Amino acid sequence: MFSLKSTKDELDRIVELAKRRGFFWPSFSVYGGVSGFYDYGPLGVLLRDNIIKIWKEKILSIGGIFIDTPNISPEEVFQASGHLERFYDLAAVCASCGSKFKVETLLQDNGIDESRYGEFTTAESLNENNIRCPRCGSKFRETTNLSLMFELLSRYGDRGNLYLRPETAQGVFVNFRNLLNFNRDKLPIIAAQLGKGFRNEIAPRQALLRLREFYMGEVEVYLSNDQNFQPESKMKLKLLPRDGVTRFLSPASAVQQKIIRDPNMAYFIEIVYQILLDVGISPERIRFRQHREDELSHYSSDCWDAEVTISGEWVEVVGVADRGTYDLTRHQKYSGFDLTSKDRQGKKFIPRVIEPSFGFDRILLASMISSYSERKKGYKVLSLPKRVSPYSAAILPLLRKDGLREWALNLYSKYKRVDPYATFDESGSIGRRYARQDEIGTPYCVTVDYDTLNNGTVTVRDRDSTKQIRIKSEILLRDGGILTASKEFDFTG
Ligand code: AMP
Repeated sequence: MFSLKSTKDELDRIVELAKRRGFFWPSFSVYGGVSGFYDYGPLGVLLRDNIIKIWKEKILSIGGIFIDTPNISPEEVFQASGHLERFYDLAAVCASCGSKFKVETLLQDNGIDESRYGEFTTAESLNENNIRCPRCGSKFRETTNLSLMFELLSRYGDRGNLYLRPETAQGVFVNFRNLLNFNRDKLPIIAAQLGKGFRNEIAPRQALLRLREFYMGEVEVYLSNDQNFQPESKMKLKLLPRDGVTRFLSPASAVQQKIIRDPNMAYFIEIVYQILLDVGISPERIRFRQHREDELSHYSSDCWDAEVTISGEWVEVVGVADRGTYDLTRHQKYSGFDLTSKDRQGKKFIPRVIEPSFGFDRILLASMISSYSERKKGYKVLSLPKRVSPYSAAILPLLRKDGLREWALNLYSKYKRVDPYATFDESGSIGRRYARQDEIGTPYCVTVDYDTLNNGTVTVRDRDSTKQIRIKSEILLRDGGILTASKEFDFTG
């Protein structure tokens, strides 16, 4: 949930930093750009991959498996899934300039509570409430449903057109039988897919927040008919259920108090929360909001969004949906293929599915925004978690002369064999180089100085405390490199 008004401050600052330092920037800018597409630069690729690795390891740690299916899918898939018929946004069309705007965004930008959405589905109600075209100020002519699907011109035989997938989930559903075989007919199965989703958004904007092509990590959890998952941790989360009253509760208590109705949903809300914390989003910025009835997707019966505050607005970064038996039932009906499992008594049933659906572009942006701070004189620091930062360490010669540069280069080439995520920087004063590394989140700067020439020790500077310690350079070359060695560093002195 976000609006046109909130494009200033923290979002702007990060977008500027991201472009200047090589995290991400608008695509095709040499041709004037196309809205809704962004490129990842050298640091953005490393950062995104580190975030995805944390997600992947968490899913593996709870017994998940992964598959990889095509970006392009045949029409039959989206007829069955309901996307062709029902995956659209309601847009208002300006009576004068013909511009189209998403109705939900118009309401947000006019300070109207979205729970009143139902009242505003016609042009008349928008006009009566003085909501005008943001481009030319005129009234609206009509509202219309715009499909979010990208249709390709290619056909496959006479069976229909090909489409870019709007979500990765369908590739997991049509593979249910293969996954069940792989899992020796046992449920539950936690089956995840990482890949791109494509949506023809009406108004792509706000950098990585609303793209037409974005990275998704969708986890389809096929449940057995027995008990499956129970939330465990005592961590309290900010929950905003449909009654509009915010509570701070552990997912387990939320189930007991019937705020979250299903323990499986609560368990995955807990997993999502842990992943968001691990990638560096601070807990104060996170809440889980239950969808209103009129907001639910055509396939879900309940949904809790993990939302993060960005520039004062709540932005959905992960959706945890109860898709029930909708998708498998539809694919079974449309394909004629048996997509059932068997319970303990051998009775056939279609498993229910819980789906945590992650959007990594938004998560990356939220992680950068959450980690950003300024020290004196506008000095910028990105305090990303160490595992998430693009570089683990920067190796720096104090000066370029007196053999310091050669010593540092030699250490760097040895260090890269232990830890390829290191960088080398020799340009500008040492203070400027520290500042540059702080701004891109490098947790440690290793400096080769005159003492190094005498006794082989180097200084290690900690990004967050800015304190330095001296260590033997060999310590860095042990297995695991600086991230492992740093567990024994003490910067408090
Ligand atoms: P959804 O299937 O709509 O719940 O989307 C799942 C996740 O994908 C969301 O929580 C977002 O993080 C992400 N997402 C959805 N649409 C976009 C978009 N247009 N641009 C970037 N990320 C998106």
